[in-house]
Amino acid sequence: ALRRGELEVRYLPVVDVRSGRCVGAEALLRWRHARQGLLSPDLFIAIAEETGLILPITEWLLRHVARDLPDGLPDPGSFHVSINLAGAHLRDAATVRTILGAFEGSQLRPESLVFEVTEREFIEDEGGTARNVLEALQAWGAKVALDDFGTGFSNIATLRRFRLDHLKIDKSFVEGIGTGSVAETVIDAIVDLGQRLEMTVVAEGIERPEQVDYLVARGVTLFQGFHFSLPLTRKGLVRFVEDRAATAAEEERAGAGPAGGDPRPDVPA
Ligand code: CA
Ligand code: CA
Repeated sequence: ALRRGELEVRYLPVVDVRSGRCVGAEALLRWRHARQGLLSPDLFIAIAEETGLILPITEWLLRHVARDLPDGLPDPGSFHVSINLAGAHLRDAATVRTILGAFEGSQLRPESLVFEVTEREFIEDEGGTARNVLEALQAWGAKVALDDFGTGFSNIATLRRFRLDHLKIDKSFVEGIGTGSVAETVIDAIVDLGQRLEMTVVAEGIERPEQVDYLVARGVTLFQGFHFSLPLTRKGLVRFVEDRAATAAEEERAGAGPAGGDPRPDVPA
């Protein structure tokens, strides 16, 4: 796919419900397969990780994002782009050089980049390489997010040791909202933990308004999921950001709350 130029990038928006604006996006890979059409990463990332191809694939993604953005998007500081890193990246000290090299000459500042990693990489960090890689990225100015939180085995000591900036609640817990299942208890604990550790909490996989309401009542303000938007092309992302900003500005002028039919709930100041 890399050789034939069949990889593409889609951006999944992150919306801040306090303002209604799009404040970021997660860069996601797609494989435009000749016979099978557009394949989602679930179908090929695990294989890419097993074969070590995740390294050149991610480097391609980094370079693509560095060229693709931030043209037409809000200033750094009010917009971030997240990129997923795999375990292989955190076991390889050369990762920092690769990332810095990919963004050399890019209009994107490190301050507007977030690198997402899952819990597994911390648990397995025996030589301390993962910690060194993440600290080097943070020293450069980028942020680090703990992805799919709740599906692994991290404890508070691990979270503290790594000084993570964002905490992403996995969609498997979000799905459980409103079902009266144990998922709600786990979500409450995760949100509380993130807030206590002063991390920015982002909820993933939002599909229904009651999931937003539940999480807003617990102080979560950043959301990703089909309820807000599907993954978009660069052009689609720019349009989404502009539409959201225009609506937000209109409401600020009117001094009113969110317009009717809008998926945003009222959020206390
Ligand atoms: Ca992710
Ligand atoms: Ca995730």
